[in-house]
Amino acid sequence: MISRSQFDQVMVPNYAPGKIVPVKGLGCKVWDQQGEEYLDLSSGIAVNALGHANPILVDAITQQAQKLWHVSNILTNEPALELATKLCDLTFAEKVFFCNSGAESNEAALKLARRYAFDNFGEEKYEIISTTNSFHGRTLFTVNVGGQPSYTEGFGPKPEGISHVPYNNLQAMEEAISDKTCAIIVEPLQGEGGVTPADSDYLTGLRHLCDKHNALLIFDEVQTGVGRTGYFYAYQGFGVVPDILTSAKALGGGFPIGAMLTTTKVAQSFVVGTHGCTYGGNPLACAVSLAAVNEISKQELLESVIEKGRTFKDFLNKMNKKFGLFEEVRGLGLLIGAQLKGDFTNRAGEIMGKALEQNLMILVAGKNVLRFAPPLNITDEELQSAFDKLEKTFEAVCA
Ligand SMILES: *Cc1c(COP(=O)(O)O)cnc(C)c1O
Repeated sequence: MISRSQFDQVMVPNYAPGKIVPVKGLGCKVWDQQGEEYLDLSSGIAVNALGHANPILVDAITQQAQKLWHVSNILTNEPALELATKLCDLTFAEKVFFCNSGAESNEAALKLARRYAFDNFGEEKYEIISTTNSFHGRTLFTVNVGGQPSYTEGFGPKPEGISHVPYNNLQAMEEAISDKTCAIIVEPLQGEGGVTPADSDYLTGLRHLCDKHNALLIFDEVQTGVGRTGYFYAYQGFGVVPDILTSAKALGGGFPIGAMLTTTKVAQSFVVGTHGCTYGGNPLACAVSLAAVNEISKQELLESVIEKGRTFKDFLNKMNKKFGLFEEVRGLGLLIGAQLKGDFTNRAGEIMGKALEQNLMILVAGKNVLRFAPPLNITDEELQSAFDKLEKTFEAVCA
């Protein structure tokens, strides 16, 4: 049987996968090669929002697989048109661009912002302001827009016109912005950077700053989008509307797809020939995404995400009283972070390993934050079972 050790033989060593090799999943459960069962609170990093092998998604992909997989953008196709229409109905957006990943959706957003500024205000207006600790993907452009210096070291000359200011600090942004700024990009909740939600006033302030300086406001909702925070997109919970929004991860329910959403006015700068993506909007991805979006945009589901998120945070706060592990428990909906303190500082990776020993899959966000992103349709019984495993994990860590 092929096993984990083969990874070191044939794979580029940029990942360090855990010991088990999953072979099957259903809902919140995953089984490894030995038939061992795990409970999944990671959703493949906030991707499988409806759990593994969801029958509605299996049905959508199976039906489409028998019809049409790919035609390229020389022609359009029905699933892409239906999905774009649905996303416009659900959001501020009037126009959609499809691609295959979060990085690609941000690449499109940043290029569009520069092109829009170029078309409307001239070639001097190209500066992008981002925030420290942010994450926007791993292409050369998006990784440099991201605010994690260790990710950009040793990759040659950096793209120009990108600066970073502290997150949730409106004054720092006010000092950095100028009429040369073409866009501000932020996550409404920094996911990879530590599960840090924006202050509502901060996002409102960014909107005003962008309006004042003719800059576009880009919300990277790759992680927060598609139901994760209890709103279809997190901006809807904050009541602050961006000019461009990027989406991926949960958008395909586990199948790769990305999207950039924007207004008709801004979209006009991507005229024929300015940007493209071979697989973008392929019928297979769009059919499964449409099924996921139809499920996740249901009001009952979104409300249940807020309810379950509250239960989850209450549990973590209760555990904190017992074990004294956390500096803070935070997050929105079912994207929850627990920042470690004291003796437990920077031991997130170790605790994730201990959870796996309890047959529980969790995530970290950096060295010091435990991150939880269960499937949005996790049942109350599964949540309870996860809490039992977590309590045993914390007991083991404190022993
Ligand atoms: C995961 C993530 C990305 C990158 O998505 P990929 O699909 O890995 O390219 C970008 N932005 C945010 C906020 C993310 O969480």
